[in-house]
Amino acid sequence: MTRPTRVRIDLAALRNNYLYARGVHGGRALAVLKANAYGHGALASAHSLASVADGFAVAFLDEACVLREGGVRNPILVLEGCFNASELKIANELDLWVVVHQEEQIRLIEESKTGARFNVWLKIDTGMSRAGFRRSDAAPAYQRLMSTGKVSSITLMTHFARADEPGEPMTAQQIEAFDAATAMLRGERSLCNSAGLLAWPSARRDWARPGLMLYGATTHGLDVPELRPVMTFESRVFNVRTLEAGEPLGYGATFVASQRTRVGLVCAGYADGYPQTAATGTPIAVDGQATTLIGRVSMDMLTVDLTDLPDAGVGSSVELWGPRVPVAAVAKGASRSPYELLCSVKRAPLVHEN
Ligand code: PLP
Repeated sequence: MTRPTRVRIDLAALRNNYLYARGVHGGRALAVLKANAYGHGALASAHSLASVADGFAVAFLDEACVLREGGVRNPILVLEGCFNASELKIANELDLWVVVHQEEQIRLIEESKTGARFNVWLKIDTGMSRAGFRRSDAAPAYQRLMSTGKVSSITLMTHFARADEPGEPMTAQQIEAFDAATAMLRGERSLCNSAGLLAWPSARRDWARPGLMLYGATTHGLDVPELRPVMTFESRVFNVRTLEAGEPLGYGATFVASQRTRVGLVCAGYADGYPQTAATGTPIAVDGQATTLIGRVSMDMLTVDLTDLPDAGVGSSVELWGPRVPVAAVAKGASRSPYELLCSVKRAPLVHEN
């Protein structure tokens, strides 16, 4: 038997979401395709966006290589930059844009023998305290890069820590800190990830870097009806059991029927990337109708409540997440983030649809 579990990717929805993001931002936008386009397939996503996108962003050089080897010609920014001379040489050969976020990366450019000029994005830490030059080091880093004579342009960037919390003052502080640190520096600017773009109009500058919203997902109930879910994680019911009141279900007997309960067994589990932490009550759709997960998720299967869906049975379609079941709602039921869920799908084939 061929397993009916599939991850369908709606590329038209991806294009819709990119154009929406860019329209809201009002400038140019790099579509963030790191981590295999958040589980959606980086190469197929890039090709489907190629004619509309201003460029792409990936985390690491090897992700950029996959896109270039696959024929993607748009600008590609490597968000974590290069870590040694041979990486920098490859970045140059593949005409990649590179983030510079630490001293060592400036030194690599200074010592580069390629004779090439690099398009650099200088990352300034305004509060995330992860990667990026401290504010006081931003201008010296900029000057040092300029004086290498190997830089064709410098775009100034920062990254938000809490933009998806609209009432939280940290983002306003980050914007202010960025503006202060870069006031005397020439160059284009880039601040916004998805939440920054949607919730912080004052952060919109030359370039946005949307990721999550391209895939039709948002966090913290930022409801944006214009965004269409791109990924549909689907399967089918392959067995039906009826539990009598008092009978337990699955590992750990975490669910015990309080009444007669029809249970559908679904051909997908945590080995496919459905979160094992999803609790009883997490939404699922069967034959397009809303119901819930019951019991603990197993490696290869999970169980759904069919008590109120008398017509559902073996062969019924199951949407684990997608247009009817927002991935954010499943993430909430699993105490996970939508980022983590989207990136975690595996084993089931990705099916790209135009
Ligand atoms: N910019 C940078 C530097 C990132 O690391 C990321 C992702 O983490 C993004 C943009 C996209 O963020 P989001 O998916 O929240 O839009």
